Amino acid sequence: MGEQRACGDGRPRPVVPRLEARVSYALHPVLAANSLYRRLGAWLERRRLAYRWFARVERVAKERLYGCRMCGQCALPDTGYTCPMTCPKQLRNGPCGGVAADGRCEVHPELACVWVIAFERAQGAGHGSDLDLLQRPVDHREWDRSSWVNYWQGRDDGLGTAPSKDEPRPLLRRELGLRPR
Ligand code: SF4
Repeated sequence: MGEQRACGDGRPRPVVPRLEARVSYALHPVLAANSLYRRLGAWLERRRLAYRWFARVERVAKERLYGCRMCGQCALPDTGYTCPMTCPKQLRNGPCGGVAADGRCEVHPELACVWVIAFERAQGAGHGSDLDLLQRPVDHREWDRSSWVNYWQGRDDGLGTAPSKDEPRPLLRRELGLRPR
């Protein structure tokens, strides 16, 4: 299959993350919400220029590593650290019906489907059950906003919920000291 990196024309295109899933999961605690980050996020939101620079740093880092498109509501921890917004249809809850039997994307047949990549990465890192979560619809008002700040401010708490009942996201469960499902 072809090279799967960010698309230069701005349209979503499946991306294979540069950073290994296991490394991404291991690094999650570095950005985990805490009172210091919450205060930093609140401070940034009061200062437009500082916020803009902070969001720019986030964009550069995550675009390079995951093909991030700055939707502002980051699903990476629930999707094997594979960005669902690089799906040409921007599906947040699994592949469309057009994915080929060999896992190729319907829109870009030379590339693998983002959700096949997500499944393989999550499964390989022991997080396959994360994909059972239902991701809520994207709030398009959050585009270009910092998902790190949104996460620190608690706006992502219900981003992914268990299909049967509302439960915190798996990584949030671990942060709260709850046992994984
Ligand atoms: S913030 Fe949105 S676009 Fe960026 S990596 Fe996360 S899910 Fe993808």
